[in-house]
Amino acid sequence: MRPILATINHDALRHNLALAKRTAPQSKIMAVVKANAYGHGLLNVAPGLNATDGFAVLGINEAINLRQAGYQQTIKLLEGVFDISELSLAGEYSLSIVVHQQEQVEMLESIQLSRPVEVFLKMNTGMNRLGFTPRDYPVAAQKLDANKNVSNIVTMTHFATADEEVGINEALTLFDNTTQAINYPASVANSAALLRYPQSHRAWVRPGIMLYGATPVSGQPAQSFGLKPVMQFTSQVIAVQTLQVGQSVGYGQTFSAQKPTRVGIVACGYADGYPRHAPSGTPIAVNGQISRTLGRVSMDMLFADLSDIPQAGVGSTVELWGKQISVDTVAEASGTVGYELLCAVAPRVPFKVINHHG
Ligand SMILES: *Cc1c(COP(=O)(O)O)cnc(C)c1O
Repeated sequence: MRPILATINHDALRHNLALAKRTAPQSKIMAVVKANAYGHGLLNVAPGLNATDGFAVLGINEAINLRQAGYQQTIKLLEGVFDISELSLAGEYSLSIVVHQQEQVEMLESIQLSRPVEVFLKMNTGMNRLGFTPRDYPVAAQKLDANKNVSNIVTMTHFATADEEVGINEALTLFDNTTQAINYPASVANSAALLRYPQSHRAWVRPGIMLYGATPVSGQPAQSFGLKPVMQFTSQVIAVQTLQVGQSVGYGQTFSAQKPTRVGIVACGYADGYPRHAPSGTPIAVNGQISRTLGRVSMDMLFADLSDIPQAGVGSTVELWGKQISVDTVAEASGTVGYELLCAVAPRVPFKVINHHG
């Protein structure tokens, strides 16, 4: 079998969730598992996050899958429902829904649900993506408060710059001023806000990326927050080439050997989710030793420098990212963030879950 594998570690998930709880001890945790749990597999990670108070997903199918798998926690739809039939299902499966625009308020006024639903009423505090403006927000809150299909309301916003130098002060002040007269619990913090701004913790926090052990703040290593990587993305060397001085490897011949160079051909390419943008020289671990990639990433293969790892050869283990090489390191070299790389692990990659607690 082709030796590529993504290993999901439940100990690391539990560790990161516990760290979120310790950091925001007064808050309930809404574990964000959208995008197939940031590429880790929804039902691969859900058992490792069983201690969470809630799950947040995007699609109603993900929400129903979780319910049908037996999860009793709050399950929230981050963009709410897209039509009336989804709203009925939200009632049936006791889902919580975001309401971010007038059309969704009207949907709730147009039917009778089998069971009332919890609503997270979203305010736009500067992202200008989803949410009511502070001007329209109080009226929407009034309408939902009077609606028999709504069991309870949580106020909510999402920060544009929780991971940036400027922080959240302006957005949070706007949110607090607008919700002052409305006495509902609130939910505002993503991972970056949870880790950086205790004043944002409120009733519910919404950590995503930190649960998977990658950093929410570019340039600040996940390890510095005490997070542990959940995914280890590995493969093996499947062939070895020896380049003479002046010879090159891979498409475009972008790397040429300045000295005789042993090259490991690794069974992982951009069709597996390794970024083609990763330049020659991106860190990679072979046989537990840190080395670097050489040349361009191909669809199914990439190249590792074995010059300083003479004992490495065909069958040697390669870590693309995980314990030795942070996904954030590969992301930074490739001009992106860990989020994107984790989400992009391809369907053809097999997954294995390890759970030491049984
Ligand atoms: C994705 C998302 C989160 C989680 O963000 P992280 O940066 O991964 O912690 C929280 N809230 C909302 C509304 C989101 O869309």
